[in-house]
Amino acid sequence: MARTVRAYIGLGANVGDARRTLTDAVAALSVLPGARLDGVSRLYRTKPVGVMNQPDFLNAVVALDVPAGLDPATGATQLLVELKNLEREFGRRKRARWGPRELDLDVLVFGRARLAIDRPPEGVPLSASIDPGAAARLLEVPHPSMRDRLFVLAPLADLAPGLVPPGWHHTIETGRRAHERADGADGAVPVGAWRDGGWS
Ligand code: AMP
Repeated sequence: MARTVRAYIGLGANVGDARRTLTDAVAALSVLPGARLDGVSRLYRTKPVGVMNQPDFLNAVVALDVPAGLDPATGATQLLVELKNLEREFGRRKRARWGPRELDLDVLVFGRARLAIDRPPEGVPLSASIDPGAAARLLEVPHPSMRDRLFVLAPLADLAPGLVPPGWHHTIETGRRAHERADGADGAVPVGAWRDGGWS
């Protein structure tokens, strides 16, 4: 059997029937070529970060074993391409950064890989001149923002509380607790547990 890598993928949505979208997205992730779903976190209702005047988000994290690829950079980039295709399929339109999302999928962790892959110059979006954030790296794992985001740390702690991501000096659970102490628990409230293909 081909070698696989344990990846953790963050899911978020706050447009339309977000619960349905995330449920369908988990099903779509589980049938990616060579992938095997190995866990789904609770579903969380979370406060928007950045732009505040938008609906709350729903967030979750899945554990997915995916093909390792020839090397970590190839494997992780392949996964990112598949996630971007799924986002497109789920009807994500070009919207403001930090704005409402039909579906947002992030590679949080890709095994023990530490990667920072720049976009090719021709791949830097035109919008980068007005939004430097859009020029961020093509791929960075562990995801650079996840240590600051309770909406990632809380669901990831459901699946992998003891995980110390590459480059970190503490566990996911320690990060979650520190964040919760600082900001309060109401930033990420569990609203469902995964059972039989859906959250209830
Ligand atoms: P987003 O803000 O989620 O729309 O992501 C914008 C861009 O971030 C994507 O087009 C990716 O190329 C890039 N990116 C960098 N690192 C990651 C990662 N770990 N997971 C997902 N996207 C990433």
